[in-house]
Amino acid sequence: MNYNLLEEKWLPVLWKNGNFRHESVIEVLNHAGEIRCINLANPLDYFAVHRFLLTLLYWKAGLAGGVEKTRELLLRGKNIPVAVLTGIKEATPCFDLFNEESPFLQDSDVKRKDPKSAGSLFAECATGTNIAHFHHGDDENMRLCLNCAVLGMLRVVPWSQAGGAGLTPSVHNAPPIMVVATGDNLAITLGLNLVPLEVRTGEAKWSGHFQSTDPTKPIPYLEALTWNPRCIYLPSPQPGACWYCGQTAVDTVGKIIYNKNEKTKLLKKGNKSIPFSWHDPSAFYPDKEYTTVRSYSEADAKDNKDLTLLLEKDAGKKKQERPKSLVVERNMDHQGWLLVVPCTNPANNKTFDHRQLELNNLSPETIRALIPAQEEQSRRQGLDGWKQPKQFYSQGIKQLVLSAEKLLTQTDWGAIANAAFKAMHEAPAAFDVFSGLYWGLRDKEINGLPSRNAAWLVLKLMAAVPTQARLIHAKANFSPLQSLPKRQINERGRTSIYPVSLPGGPRLEAALRDVLDNNMHKRYPEPVDWIGLCSGLDQLLD
Ligand SMILES: [Zn+2]
Repeated sequence: MNYNLLEEKWLPVLWKNGNFRHESVIEVLNHAGEIRCINLANPLDYFAVHRFLLTLLYWKAGLAGGVEKTRELLLRGKNIPVAVLTGIKEATPCFDLFNEESPFLQDSDVKRKDPKSAGSLFAECATGTNIAHFHHGDDENMRLCLNCAVLGMLRVVPWSQAGGAGLTPSVHNAPPIMVVATGDNLAITLGLNLVPLEVRTGEAKWSGHFQSTDPTKPIPYLEALTWNPRCIYLPSPQPGACWYCGQTAVDTVGKIIYNKNEKTKLLKKGNKSIPFSWHDPSAFYPDKEYTTVRSYSEADAKDNKDLTLLLEKDAGKKKQERPKSLVVERNMDHQGWLLVVPCTNPANNKTFDHRQLELNNLSPETIRALIPAQEEQSRRQGLDGWKQPKQFYSQGIKQLVLSAEKLLTQTDWGAIANAAFKAMHEAPAAFDVFSGLYWGLRDKEINGLPSRNAAWLVLKLMAAVPTQARLIHAKANFSPLQSLPKRQINERGRTSIYPVSLPGGPRLEAALRDVLDNNMHKRYPEPVDWIGLCSGLDQLLD
């Protein structure tokens, strides 16, 4: 099986004339001036592919007089220098995905046991114990077409993240906020982001077991740009369907070898991990240190509040300058930017949110305009998908529940019990009992009767428990509504931030029956607050 990354047509691009096609890397580099942009919707894919093209240019720019010179040519709208292109083409054998000795970005000597889900390559695919994702998966059966496998492989260098069992993040640590300067065509875009780096060049490492030449020294840039924190090996492709793009009857790879790379572990000073000496040109750094700016709070990411991290900090006397990015500094007056913001929580090993923002410029005013002006008032109410009912019991509600308890006979309760999960018109016998009670109170002009639906549901629930449990206790405080699950509970018993909506219709009835049933099965069932339940349902249902 042959699949060469430079020759296969896997890269979706938008041509300036409006055509959209998958092209080969060689074709794309050859015609960069005629291509509008790389056309990938996912910001992580977009950045990874863009970074790969840039790395190729960094790698071979020396053949055309260096990075600065290549950059200048590209910025003038010229095509990629022929010498650079020829250099890349000559290196084609490095980019074969299934080469027996040196497969691209893989380690052919890796121990091939315990294969993992092919989805390991994608932050948003559920794999292993990382299950809370948009794209639910199945570790055994998940397959990727070769084009998507390439996208996943290219993500490994810029976007790898720490994981359990010693999986290390990439050279710049957890995925940072990255920036891309965008131009009118791909040649200009590449030129804008191809900025000279003030560290040693070093060697690109496209295959085999990745190892830094000296992790204690500043990392040479070709080494950093091909930093591979994993030992990966793709099995031979088989026909199948791709779980990422949906293509069917294509060559696909299933479970892959996806191991930790001990050689890319962070260095330690005592107990503390210290970052590698490397400044990614697209990442932001608050000072001269090597720790990037990254978004880590989902609550802040949801409304751009995390962008505050890109502004000057003015906490009391301690003023901290705006974080800097080399690409931004080298293109000060440029208009047209893309911010790629992955939000990663160190406690949850995968990226749980990633977004891109297209901006005209990156001035503090522009960034500030994206951040919500006022701190939103923290509203616990409504967060759970329901509004906490008020603890107010009207005369009508009390009267209805008390009269039901006092006036209804066993036969009446039996009729209502038979109406489980039924609407009023589906259960005539129960409806007779119900209407006798309800309309009786209405005729007495008692204020604040519950709605018919709330009253109907409460009576059905009261009918479902033994007589003893139906009695009204002055100090009853078991509230079935409070016991409904409103937030997912994680395994440590803490409430998680993901709300569960309050069920409606028969699901609500089933959930309440469950809660009551569990109470009855307790050694000492708690007295049920029927009046509170009726009042709560009255507020929630209509
Ligand atoms: Zn695919």
